[in-house]
Amino acid sequence: MSSSKKIGIAGCGIGGLALGALLAAEGWQVRIFDQFAAPSPVGSGLVVQPVGLQVLGALGVAQAAIAKGAKISCMFGTESGSGKVALDVSYGERFGLAIHRASLFETLLDAALRAGCEIVPATEIAAQEGAYFTTKSGEKLGPFDLLVDASGANSPLSPLQAKPLKYGALWASVDWPESSKLPRHRLTQCYGKASKMAGVLPIGSMPGETTAKAAIFWSLRAADYEVWRAKGLAAWQAETAAFWPEFAPFLAQINHVEDLTMARYKHGTLRRKTAGNIAYIGDAAHCASPQLGQGANMALLDAYALGQALLSQPVLRALQAYEHARKRHVFAYQSMSRLLTPMYQSDSTVLPWLRNHVLAPLSPRWPFAKLLSTVGAGDIIPPLRGQGLPPL
Ligand SMILES: Cc1cc2nc3c(=O)[nH]c(=O)nc-3n(C[C@H](O)[C@H](O)[C@H](O)COP(=O)(O)OP(=O)(O)OC[C@H]3O[C@@H](n4cnc5c(N)ncnc54)[C@H](O)[C@@H]3O)c2cc1C
Repeated sequence: MSSSKKIGIAGCGIGGLALGALLAAEGWQVRIFDQFAAPSPVGSGLVVQPVGLQVLGALGVAQAAIAKGAKISCMFGTESGSGKVALDVSYGERFGLAIHRASLFETLLDAALRAGCEIVPATEIAAQEGAYFTTKSGEKLGPFDLLVDASGANSPLSPLQAKPLKYGALWASVDWPESSKLPRHRLTQCYGKASKMAGVLPIGSMPGETTAKAAIFWSLRAADYEVWRAKGLAAWQAETAAFWPEFAPFLAQINHVEDLTMARYKHGTLRRKTAGNIAYIGDAAHCASPQLGQGANMALLDAYALGQALLSQPVLRALQAYEHARKRHVFAYQSMSRLLTPMYQSDSTVLPWLRNHVLAPLSPRWPFAKLLSTVGAGDIIPPLRGQGLPPL
């Protein structure tokens, strides 16, 4: 395809950077706009699943990411008090890569800059007008052959009407305590029915550092956040230490309520991920709770599918190919997320009972072990319809 094609991308996050890196490496003129004052990531840690790692491999940055993150071999959870196993899903011969957002961001930013992307900070996109973006301050940016909305779950461009979820979570990144006996190769969670959940995820190190870090999280109703703040840290630390004693050494590093960030979740899926000359990718096209750990993966897969389509055909045909490639996979994972999230975050008593007494006992057995492993890995159905992903 012509190397003079111009693309404007709103959002310099996981999806925007991955798409920009792919296209700029093939000669496209890529401008990525973000509202941040200087390139920076938001949030704590996340897991890049095996299929997402394959996309990082295609961008030539998988090994750099692996060097900064922590390889996760399984996801494990127990019920508070009884210690009964409530989740035990192994990746088998594959692994998930748990990584601090800052490290993943730095890896993708390096790839995008090396490929020749122009990153334009301090630019809040407000709308699209034909081949142009317009900013909040009224500036017109463009024209572009293609506009891409990669501005995340609160996109001002996407028609997505996502529904806020009742439960969110408090998140923080802390040093991995020497005294902790928790394994450093798994996501470990502890549950009290589905209304309480604590988790520890090893995430490797921050950019430029070698200290091993953990992302910790505590499930909380979004509406209860102010009440939680008012109660104060000491009360919460005492409650959580009693709930899950292994959590205590991680919590000891939290000194102020501000050390924890409240993440609110939404769920929704666009029926069509393109409209005219704009494509929506990542959370701007579909957002969900992080229970299945697929959000970053989905953004990477969208970016790869759109990038590959654009490199082999004219823009409008490529947009149709992108829709086609991602439709089934997005539908499958959004449906599973909607179905499974209430087993881990809800006020239900029936669903956690089913989780503990039906799902957990079945999960180590054939064929469920393999099935759950591929759900987690991100390829229970092919991520890109009609085309494969390059092996890692
Ligand atoms: C607490 C938490 C834990 C998670 N854990 C996991 C996990 O384990 N595994 C997983 O795969 N996913 C996880 N996710 C989901 C994952 O982080 C997202 O799905 C992923 O970041 C989406 O990528 P994106 O490129 O669509 O958007 P983002 O990475 O959110 O990037 C959007 C970018 O757009 C910019 N932007 C926003 N609005 C504008 C605007 N108007 N103008 C210009 N720029 C704008 C933002 O500044 C940002 O840089 C988690 C999410 C949360 C909140």
